[in-house]
Amino acid sequence: AALIEFRQVQKTYSNGFQAVTPFDLSVGAGEIVSLVGPSGCGKTTVIRMAAGLSSVSGGELVRRTDQLAYVFQDPTLLAWRNVRSNVELVAKLKGVDKATRAAAATAAIEMVGLGAFEKSLPRQLSGGMKMRVSLARAITSAPELMMMDEPFAALDEFTRENMQNQLLRLWRANGFGAMFITHSISEAVNLGHRIVVMAARPGRIARIIDSPSPPTKD
Ligand code: ADP
Ligand code: ADP
Repeated sequence: AALIEFRQVQKTYSNGFQAVTPFDLSVGAGEIVSLVGPSGCGKTTVIRMAAGLSSVSGGELVRRTDQLAYVFQDPTLLAWRNVRSNVELVAKLKGVDKATRAAAATAAIEMVGLGAFEKSLPRQLSGGMKMRVSLARAITSAPELMMMDEPFAALDEFTRENMQNQLLRLWRANGFGAMFITHSISEAVNLGHRIVVMAARPGRIARIIDSPSPPTKD
């Protein structure tokens, strides 16, 4: 069964504005779904509903896992905690025992290439490195479903390409399903198995297409 299913889900905010008109969508285990579309078309609203951060105004949303991670565009690291401590934080808050989260954090930090920076503080890292910490933190909580809201938008083109590769490496190792917002068509195509194309006014899903070059396990 799918990790998450939207059945005629729509969103009307409390001011009466309908941000997303009724739509159907499912995300399978290990499947990456990219969302693209112009600013304000409702992409963030869709993944916030998926994550339970925003209520559903109509239709039915079925989520079959609680093992969820949300990666924000801004890495939001705690300034006074070093890389390892930041990476372990979400797993710690979820009650994962110390030995398990330490081992998971070591593997994640290694995978994103920050082994030499475990003791560094966020202010000592570049934007790309902070984003890698944020990804490692998400992975360390062993999510079955990752929500990512333009995780690479703030990065320069070189760092972005590097991060895309990091993300795919993590996906190959951990096999999470994901919903992923991007403004880049090539990113949507290269990182997603399916691409949800949204149109503005009113926010609606215009089409869902299979990626011509989806990520594979090898
Ligand atoms: P996107 O992520 O595609 O840029 P959003 O989901 O953030 O789009 O927003 C979709 C629309 O809903 C926009 O017009 C936005 O202004 C509006 N919106 C977002 N949050 C709220 C809210 N809490 N109350 C009212 N309108 C909102
Ligand atoms: P919900 O229906 O999910 O509870 P609300 O309508 O109560 O959402 O709004 C959630 C938050 O979003 C509020 O704090 C509100 O101030 C903020 N917000 C309102 N309008 C917008 C907007 N256009 N874009 C983004 N956020 C908004």
